[in-house]
Amino acid sequence: MNEERVAVYPGSFDPPTLGHLDLIERAAKLFDRVIVAVASNSAKSGLFSLEERLEMLTESTASLPNVEVDHFKGLTVEYARQKGAKALIRGLRVISDFEFELTMAINNQKLNPEVDTVCLMPSEPYLFLSSRQVKEIVAFGGPVSHYVTPPIEARLRARLRGGE
Ligand code: ADP
Repeated sequence: MNEERVAVYPGSFDPPTLGHLDLIERAAKLFDRVIVAVASNSAKSGLFSLEERLEMLTESTASLPNVEVDHFKGLTVEYARQKGAKALIRGLRVISDFEFELTMAINNQKLNPEVDTVCLMPSEPYLFLSSRQVKEIVAFGGPVSHYVTPPIEARLRARLRGGE
């Protein structure tokens, strides 16, 4: 019998960008089930609350039937084990991501050799995109419609520019 292939995509998603969504769509084609999981430790600081991040991810992935949204505390590999996931999805953009992602992947491998990290690359327009950059652009009044969905852009404007 073929076992269901489950992947966990952990992150802060403060807020989710089109780069995150690009990766979620790629992962949804490779795995039977993808669980996008907000690290709730990361939600203590940041622009959006855990509930807001979960709402934004749920809205953005509504058209993808094999994607679900959740949150977790503590070790990512432990959460993956509980969910029966054998893969963690992470994104590789510019070279600077590589060292960080490699270090984390090797540490996670030591913590649980049953779980592998699968790094995916986004489409070219999202290679230099991060949640941090999006927040900075909006804070200074710039456009981000090519980087986030319209509802997320509206939330960013409301939070950072008082809705103007
Ligand atoms: P974290 O705090 O865990 O880095 P993020 O939400 O910033 O959380 O990112 C989660 C994952 O998504 C990371 O592996 C990051 O490299 C990846 N990622 C973020 N933005 C992009 C993007 N534009 N293209 C591809 N991967 C991305």
